[in-house]
Amino acid sequence: MTSLQSYACGQWTAGSGDPVALHDPSTAEVIGDVRPAGVDFAATLAHARNVGGPALRAMTFAQRGEILKGLSKVLHEHRDELIGVAGRNGGNTRGDAKFDLDGASGTLAFYAHLSKSLPETPWITDGEGTQLGRTARFWAEHVLLPRPGVALHINAFNFPAWGMGEKLACSILAGVPVITKAGTASAMLAWRVSELIVASGLLPEGSFQFIPGSISAMTDHLESMDVVAFTGSARTGIRIRGNANCIAKSVRVNIEADSINSAVLGPDCDFDDDSFTQFISNLHIDMTQKAGQKCTAVRRILVPHDKLDEVKEALVDRLKSTRIGNALDPDVRMGPVASAAQLEDVRGGIQKLQAECDTILGGPEAMDGPGYFVTPTLLQARNNDAQLLHELEVFGPCATILPYDGKAETAADLINRGGGCLVASAYSDDKKWISEVVAGIAPWHGRVWVGSEKTMGHALGPGAVLPGAIHGGPGRAGGGEELGGLRGLQPYLQRTAIQGDRSVVGRSFGSPE
Ligand code: NAP
Repeated sequence: MTSLQSYACGQWTAGSGDPVALHDPSTAEVIGDVRPAGVDFAATLAHARNVGGPALRAMTFAQRGEILKGLSKVLHEHRDELIGVAGRNGGNTRGDAKFDLDGASGTLAFYAHLSKSLPETPWITDGEGTQLGRTARFWAEHVLLPRPGVALHINAFNFPAWGMGEKLACSILAGVPVITKAGTASAMLAWRVSELIVASGLLPEGSFQFIPGSISAMTDHLESMDVVAFTGSARTGIRIRGNANCIAKSVRVNIEADSINSAVLGPDCDFDDDSFTQFISNLHIDMTQKAGQKCTAVRRILVPHDKLDEVKEALVDRLKSTRIGNALDPDVRMGPVASAAQLEDVRGGIQKLQAECDTILGGPEAMDGPGYFVTPTLLQARNNDAQLLHELEVFGPCATILPYDGKAETAADLINRGGGCLVASAYSDDKKWISEVVAGIAPWHGRVWVGSEKTMGHALGPGAVLPGAIHGGPGRAGGGEELGGLRGLQPYLQRTAIQGDRSVVGRSFGSPE
């Protein structure tokens, strides 16, 4: 039994209060616990602001980039051990765990590399200077400076390593200290990664603190220069965004919430086309990777009426061939969902969708055995009036086919009923059809992924979040934005216009005189 500890104010401490059990989702065995209380939130925040912040801000971007490079190496060196932890406490197959861990180390390395493009000054100039008056004696430069506060990173259970790593990379490179909170159900991996980060000694004291238990009261202690980066359900996101203290102090809050992502097959795609092959392959990955517990996984599948039989047959074949079982078995391709609560949620969600959908494969019935297993479930909407499938995220291996007439306009209308999503993918080699779909859905999405014969063998699927492109989405997806290269630093930087004589403003902030 492992009891997870918090790293706060420079020391590891066991929590207090009633323990919350951590399970191996493949067997339901209790393998550890988290004691949720016992961290002094005000002192932890003050330690970050007063000790970690000044130490980070005293470094150049390049020095902070070197730290990220070192952290990436640390994760890579411990990859096999961490894959084992992800299997035991997250129900991750080896492939799932690599997706999470390599995502974390890759994103840290990506931002380490980006630091080389940043200036040696403590600030970044934002765009060209602007003449405000009749002469250059009244001039403005926009500059971006690290906010002298703390970044509170709240992560979901499904990506304990990547979620922590991608937020950490942007925040540390920007010069803002981090308090990271892991989703409790799978916190063992985040805890072990945190142990490695602290033991590496790479980050200055106070710039990294870790809490595995509840932090709901911490938002009441945040100040105006602080930032919250939250990933999780829309329900929790609304609570955090609505926190009275955060509203009163204008604490920056970035919300990455849930999303009813879609994929649409163009009417031109035939069974033998590369676009069709990618469509089926990406649907299969999204439905089974991490047992469908990816915020970017497809939930709605739009298929032209005349392609329905071919799509169903091809996808059902792939889903049926997926070996499901204990995540630690190397031959298994899909493990369990992460917790008993998650299992109940997924089964309940499938039952609700069945009210307006037919079941093609799977269903809500429990699978044999003690673990938290759900069979891959493919549903089909009875008609285009079905509404719940556009609103309810079933966070597991479940997606719904929505037949449509093949028109770009109809596809865009149906996809946008998701109310704002992280990602939509469209597959076609008809450039006119694709451009109409993209134009119709882009404002409602953080990312639009276009599959064609040209991308075959060259592109990671729409479910993969890459640090060079933004991640986030409008509306119900939370309205947040992360990553996207240097854009990912923005939440942690304050943009200020410096106005005055150009020779002074230019000299102070590095622009040409
Ligand atoms: P969740 O229940 O909303 O929890 C998310 C995080 O918030 C956890 O660390 C949780 O801690 C914490 N939390 C709960 N109540 C809080 C409060 N009042 N104040 C501060 N923190 C609080 O979500 P989840 O079940 O972990 O994750 C699944 C959901 O996340 C899915 O809906 C999925 O779509 C979404 N997700 C979105 C993205 C994205 O990038 N958009 C990525 C991954 C997942 P405890 O675990 O201790 O309760």
